[in-house]
Amino acid sequence: MIVIKLGGAAITDKARLYVIKRKTIAATAGVLANHRDYLLVHGAGSFGHIPVNKYNVRGPVRSQRQLVGYAKTKACLLKLESELVAIFAEKHIPVAPVAASSCLIADRGRIVSQNFDVIASMLKLGLVPHIGGDIVQDVSFGASVVSGDQIAVNLAIAFHARTIIFGTDVDGLYTADPKLNHRARLLSNLDLAQLYEWAKKAGPANAPDVSGGMRGKLTEILPAVRAGIRVVIINLNKPQRLQRAMTGKPVKGTAISR
Ligand code: ADP
Repeated sequence: MIVIKLGGAAITDKARLYVIKRKTIAATAGVLANHRDYLLVHGAGSFGHIPVNKYNVRGPVRSQRQLVGYAKTKACLLKLESELVAIFAEKHIPVAPVAASSCLIADRGRIVSQNFDVIASMLKLGLVPHIGGDIVQDVSFGASVVSGDQIAVNLAIAFHARTIIFGTDVDGLYTADPKLNHRARLLSNLDLAQLYEWAKKAGPANAPDVSGGMRGKLTEILPAVRAGIRVVIINLNKPQRLQRAMTGKPVKGTAISR
């Protein structure tokens, strides 16, 4: 089992609402059409971060105004979801959308209970479950944002995945944000101790992001690596890298193992 996280930065233009990177998604689907036994998770990109900030629904969510904002944010998330499902189905991938808010409960933004029976049943049937970062019920906050990164890690642990592939819009983890610092160097291999160090240092994403950018990603990855899952961060704009990562071949990117 492999969990593939389609990063919000790779599948949407994070700074502009409703801009989907169709070419990247179609090329990704083209690669995945030749594979079996994987789960798809996606980030919300601009379809989540922009409305979440606009309507102030990161959590706590309590007022009537926020509840309406919740609904408006869900409408944006569903728009992205519907586009993704259509593109994957076009490439003959039997994708099955699952709402995180229907199978997870959080406490202050951290998942505290989950039921993946539906996902297990879909996998058994030969479907490819597909689940996105979402606003979910939250025992302290009413509702809160749970990132695709957190969901990807929980799914990988629950389904004993051997690998999680994080596809994003840069080649992997660098010594600094490569979009801001041209001297930033790609980190090809990390062990758990090095991951701890970089989780403290890596910068936030340079676009509105309610889930912590690269630093948030590394912090989320920690429990997966601790559990013995191999994590690979690659550039989703290079489909041949995804193909290599899916078959366990060495690939340009950042590989992290215990
Ligand atoms: P996604 O939405 O694809 O999951 P994020 O936007 O959360 O990804 O994180 C990727 C972004 O993080 C990149 O676009 C990059 O500009 C930024 N970034 C900040 N610091 C780093 C770093 N040290 N290495 C790589 N990318 C970084």
